[in-house]
Amino acid sequence: MNKKEKELIDRLEREQSLTEEEYAELIRNRDEEAAASLAKIAVKKRKEFFSDAVYTRGLIEISSICKNNCLYCGIRRDNRNAERYRLTKEEILACADEGYELGFRTFVLQGGEDPYFTDEVLCEIVAGLKEKHPDCAVTLSMGERSSHSYRALYDAGADRYLLRHETADVGHYAKLHPGEMSFDNRMRCLHDLKEIGYQIGCGFMVGSPFQTPETLAKDLKFVETFRPAMCGIGPFIPHHDTPFKDEKAGTLELTLFLLSVIRLILPEVLLPATTALGTIDPKGREKGILAGANVVMPNLSPVGVRKKYELYDNKICTGEESAQCRGCLEARMQSVGYRLVVDRGDAPGYTIHQKI
Ligand code: SAH
Repeated sequence: MNKKEKELIDRLEREQSLTEEEYAELIRNRDEEAAASLAKIAVKKRKEFFSDAVYTRGLIEISSICKNNCLYCGIRRDNRNAERYRLTKEEILACADEGYELGFRTFVLQGGEDPYFTDEVLCEIVAGLKEKHPDCAVTLSMGERSSHSYRALYDAGADRYLLRHETADVGHYAKLHPGEMSFDNRMRCLHDLKEIGYQIGCGFMVGSPFQTPETLAKDLKFVETFRPAMCGIGPFIPHHDTPFKDEKAGTLELTLFLLSVIRLILPEVLLPATTALGTIDPKGREKGILAGANVVMPNLSPVGVRKKYELYDNKICTGEESAQCRGCLEARMQSVGYRLVVDRGDAPGYTIHQKI
């Protein structure tokens, strides 16, 4: 680590901010020593706010049907080989019931942009979930919708929304998505969600095709200024039936580095050690926690559909029952000195909205 790199890390720790050019420099000049130094500070900061707790969210993948055609994603519209499924309201509630018994108090409903899930259908599911489990938080991750739709879902009881911005660079965004999708609409969605009052998660893939230290610097500046409650980052992993099938996957090393940097920018942020990170390295999620992450999202989807929600190749945790997943993660977290907590796991400072 050279003197300039050390100076950037010291300043980031003190001020939680760098210029875009400095973020790019921090990334370009990184080495093992810089990564270790960042991870050490990141762990110290996460402990200040979260002690040794790791929040857990039960992920229910409700549909693999998608009208979008994102170039990186295995369930893109044009992938004729993808097996499509959609869960019914009853199946979703049954997954949540099972999760509740296992101690989960946050459920994340994620899926492709499946036109079947109109506001009416989705609101009924959210309301049904809240009615059965009023002590749980409901997080949605169902892509881009209208402001009116986000409002209706919020009123139906949704607490949080995960919508990765994917990249904060307009030109880069256009290389990852087809022409009919737009960076401006993605940003419009994030701003609408914030205005409505959701706890929001943004985020991006690490090592996506055409990503550079400069585009990553924009991602970091976006995270710094947008101040999401959560930030989901994980390595890009190619899927064999997408236009990016021959591209290289993102690395463990850069993902861990960025997890630490994000922890320094937003010390209170909820930062998941993602399934994708666990896919590129058998100890990826443990290493993520040791780099500053504080959330894990085990899969609660019915085992029969898990392999069909294949966003990238070799996705882990597709064969186990939910109880096994929970036990496995608990043991993994303990192995690095942390404990899974049974709690909604709200962002610090967030007051639970009382909705009628
Ligand atoms: N339709 C929803 C949910 C998308 S899936 C939405 O638009 O938000 C959740 C995330 O998986 C995506 O935001 C993307 O960042 C990530 N993802 C998709 N394909 C991937 C791949 N090949 N490798 C790694 N992550 C991927």
